[in-house]
Amino acid sequence: MPVQPIRLFGDPVLTTPAGLVTTFDKDLRNLVSDLIETMHEAPGAGLAAPQIGVSLQVFVWDIDEGDGHLINPTLDLSEELQEGEEGCLSFPGLVYETPRAFRAVAKGFNMHGEPVTIEGTELLARVLQHETDHLNGIVFIDRLLTSERKLAMADIRNSEWFGEATALGNSPIIKFSPHSTKGLAI
Ligand code: ZN
Repeated sequence: MPVQPIRLFGDPVLTTPAGLVTTFDKDLRNLVSDLIETMHEAPGAGLAAPQIGVSLQVFVWDIDEGDGHLINPTLDLSEELQEGEEGCLSFPGLVYETPRAFRAVAKGFNMHGEPVTIEGTELLARVLQHETDHLNGIVFIDRLLTSERKLAMADIRNSEWFGEATALGNSPIIKFSPHSTKGLAI
């Protein structure tokens, strides 16, 4: 399965809510496979379908326990919060302190249409929240504290990738990022 180009912030697909998956067929299994390959190639800890230009509620992750995927997720979050830095493959090279719930329970389906529940704390909880946000058209800078968000917007405006996309007047697309996001890009 081919590695897909990753869409960058500025591409409207990243701020558009994704549609529910209604058919659990071979195309869906191919999409999950493309997402996993693209995530490994990047490399990243997670990837959502809109990040490769597919506006469907599908995401994948790869942390300690190995690859996972989830379709049409809903989230239950703890009130307890966690601190920590977060990056995103659609914002190459940028990492910010991003508050998240400490624990998340995600309910959805696997690629065969069977109901699954994924429970996680710390990094897995962070990834589940970050990726579910992607499916709702929300990007991680929307979750930053105001002061941090101002800093992020300035960094984005000054970034090479955003400048290039603006100069070309088209949606920014790259095949991979030469920048490191400290292994936290999701
Ligand atoms: Zn992301």
